[in-house]
This record gives sequence, C-alpha cells and structure tokens, in this order.
Amino acid sequence: MSMRTLKFDTLVVGGGIAGLQTALDLADQDFKVAIVDKDATIGGKMIRLSKVFPTLDCASCITTPKMAAAAHHPNVTLFTYCELNTLKREGGRIQAGITRKPRYVDEVKCIGCRQCEYNCPVYVPDEEQGGFAARKAIYIPFSNAIPQIALLDAENCTLCGKCAKVCPTQAVDYFQEPEHFAIEAKTAVLCTGFELTPLADKVQYGAGKIPNVISALQMERLLAPHGPYNRVLRPSDGMEPDSIAFIQCAGSRDKSMGVPYCSRVCCMYAIKQAMLLSGAVPLADISIYYMDIRTFGKGYEQFFQNSKAMGVEFIKGKVASIDPGENGTVKLHYEAQGEDGGVKVAEHDLVVLSLGMVAGWNPEGVCAVSLGDDHFIKTVKPKTAPTLTDMEGVFTAGVAAGPKDIVDTIVEAGSAAMEASNYLISLERTSKAAA
Ligand SMILES: Cc1cc2nc3c(=O)[nH]c(=O)nc-3n(C[C@H](O)[C@H](O)[C@H](O)COP(=O)(O)OP(=O)(O)OC[C@H]3O[C@@H](n4cnc5c(N)ncnc54)[C@H](O)[C@@H]3O)c2cc1C
Repeated sequence: MSMRTLKFDTLVVGGGIAGLQTALDLADQDFKVAIVDKDATIGGKMIRLSKVFPTLDCASCITTPKMAAAAHHPNVTLFTYCELNTLKREGGRIQAGITRKPRYVDEVKCIGCRQCEYNCPVYVPDEEQGGFAARKAIYIPFSNAIPQIALLDAENCTLCGKCAKVCPTQAVDYFQEPEHFAIEAKTAVLCTGFELTPLADKVQYGAGKIPNVISALQMERLLAPHGPYNRVLRPSDGMEPDSIAFIQCAGSRDKSMGVPYCSRVCCMYAIKQAMLLSGAVPLADISIYYMDIRTFGKGYEQFFQNSKAMGVEFIKGKVASIDPGENGTVKLHYEAQGEDGGVKVAEHDLVVLSLGMVAGWNPEGVCAVSLGDDHFIKTVKPKTAPTLTDMEGVFTAGVAAGPKDIVDTIVEAGSAAMEASNYLISLERTSKAAA
C-alpha cells in the first residue's frame, strides 16, 4: 500500500519558539506550513521556563499566545508526537518520511477533558516538573500544552482499563499502531533546538547522583508559578534552603565533556534565577561561582549590575568537585581567584549546575545536512545569510544552529522565514517563466 503524502510549501522541523516564529512568519505570507515535533506538545524549552531575562516576563504568558496562534492559523498544520525518519531532496522537492508515534489515544476523538488522567491509578515522576512531582500513566503534558490531547505512557500503564471506561468519546485505543506518512515540501527549516549537557557526564559534579544538586531547568520548574511545590524547597527533604549556589560553565567550555564552546545563555539565566530566588526565598544567601560573566545582549550588563545590588554574591573561582555534605548539604571544592585565592571548601543547602547546550538532534542517517565541529547545524554563510545550510532549500534557525537566547532565536527565525519565502517566490517565478 502506498504511503499518504501531504503537500506543503514549507516543512518546519521542531515546534519550539524558533519553529513557531518561522512558521507564523511564513504562514502570514500565505505559504502553507507543516510543523513536525517529536514531542507531544509544541512550545519547546521556552514554555517550560519560569520567567525570561532580560525583561522577567512570565515565559508561559508570552509563549502560549505564539503556540495558540500557530495552532489556529489557517495556513499551519501541526504534527506532534511525530518522528522524522528521512529528509532528502528529490526531483526539486523536499521529501520527508514521518512516523506518528502511538499516543494510544485517538487524536480526533480526544476532547482533552482529562477524565482518563483523573481516574488513572498509576503515579510516575513527572519529567515536566523536573521529576519533583508525579503525573499519571495517561496524561496531558501540562495545562497549556498544545494540542490538548492525552497520551498513554505504555511503559507504566498497568492496562487496568479505567481510562477507557471513563472516556466520554471512546478515544483510548490500547491497540493503536504507529502511522507512517510522507510530507512533500518546497523548502524546509530545521529548528530542532537543544538539550542540556548531560549531568551524568560530569563525574566530578556527582554525575547527577548527589541529592540537592539540580540542573538549571529543574530550578526553572521550582521557580515557575505552576511548579511542583508552588515554592522553592530543597528536593531531598522539603526544607526551605538558606544558602543556594550556582556553578557556571558546569557543562560548557569543557573539552573533557566535548563541549569546548560557551553556551551563551548560562550567565544570564543563572543571574535571572538568582534574582527570582531573592524574591522567592528572601532570607537565603545566593552565590554564583564563575570564571567570567558574559552579558552580551542589550540591557544584559545592567541586569547583571542589578543582581549585585540585590545582594547576589559573585565568587570568582572554578569549582573542581562536589561532594555530599551532612544533613543534605552539598560541599563545593573550588579554586578561588584573586587576592584571597587558594583551594577552598564551601557548603550550601542547594546547588544548581548551569549546564550548557548541546544539539537537540543528530541528523545522521536521516538527512544529509552538514554539522559544524560543535555538532550544531552548519551554516554556510554565517555572516551574510546565517540561516543557510548546505542543502538547497533547507534553512535553520534557533539553537539548532548554535547556542543562543530567545531574542536572537526570534531574529534568526524571521531571517529563516525570509530566506524560505524568497526561495519559494523564486521557484514560482521560474515555473511561470517555463510555462
Ligand atoms: C535553564 C535555561 C533557562 C533559559 N532562560 C532563558 C531566558 O530567561 N531568556 C532567554 O532569552 N533565553 C533563555 N534560555 C534559552 C532559551 O531556552 C532558548 O533560546 C530557546 O528555547 C531556543 O528555542 P529553539 O526553538 O531554538 O529550541 P527548543 O526550545 O529546544 O525547541 C526545539 C524543538 O524541536 C523539537 N525537536 C528536536 N528534534 C526534533 C526532531 N528530530 N524531529 C522533530 N522535532 C524535534 C523539540 O521537541 C522542541 O520542541 C534558557 C535556557 C535554559 C537551558
């Protein structure tokens, strides 16, 4: 049986803020756009943040309208929970092979009422809340996820049948199979974003096994208005921390981890989190251990100075190793720089690792686009056309092309949309001239 092929002007791979902005800019010019995301919801990392530097806007308040605009745009079609198997250029077109992973819930029938979730008896750690809270085995990822369609986690489901029994539209389908289909487009924009450098790779920092040593994304959840505890508590025992430390360059500028580059956002997100913590836990001492502070963007230096004025302590020193202390505390061994230098030990109640960014997607075996030495998508004209890849008609935007903040991501997404639009118009002109 031949596979279903859907035709669009542009295929956007990744529905984070880069993909959403690219898709909206193209759709507003009347191009038909498909967004494919491997996740069950669009929004990428930005929808999971608390507030965003440098304005301290609520991340959810500014991301949700973009997500909703894409979902409701007549020229945009969303394909969530879909894996990209192949992306190649054939006969002057982009041909993509896609697999829709089984949600075990019929996407058309599900009305997002969450009756299945409320009645499911199985609790598992909720990755959306940094693992600090629980979710059910059948669930909608979070309250403003788009689309509002449940998915069943087959690994943890006990097949008790309660979800199917209470579903008012008979949407639960334990026998759902993966669906394979093809997308044909004239252009593609790769917006596959990033992952944090894996905690497990940093053995000197406890390889993710020391209680109360958490990642920066976990701290985002602790600070979020709908976070796991609705306040900042130490995960091991629920104590309100009296001293919190951030360790900069915990997974960047580190050749031993294969991440020699600067991830560009970690200084700013640590300063942001420190400022938010001064409000959330006013009596806590907050320290940032750093090699140098890089505040490169508009208004960023002032943001840094404001944090110092608010009492955040900046300690110039490289943290060499981390050990568990007594009663849940965390011991840092660091080499202090400056007049009172030397090897020192400090103890904190909670430690946040400012982990760096690594590429969110490895195209090997899927797509022939080239990567740079840093494993992010290579751009062939980085100065004059920074969204151009080495595949004709294929562009890239956001962190897929290298670490960057939201401001630069939005600018780059606009630029990718413009390049794609110019390419589409030139195709149209050529075909008109040939006719
Ligand atoms: C802890 C932390 C705090 C931050 N705070 C701020 C801040 O306050 N202000 C600021 O400006 N920036 C901040 N940033 C940076 C910000 O998160 C990024 O700039 C932004 O999220 C980049 O968006 P993106 O769309 O490029 O990538 P992502 O958000 O990673 O989105 C990529 C999308 O692509 C999808 N995807 C990946 N691979 C595939 C595939 N093969 N097929 C289909 N889909 C795929 C993913 O599921 C995801 O939805 C922070 C970063 C971190 C880590």
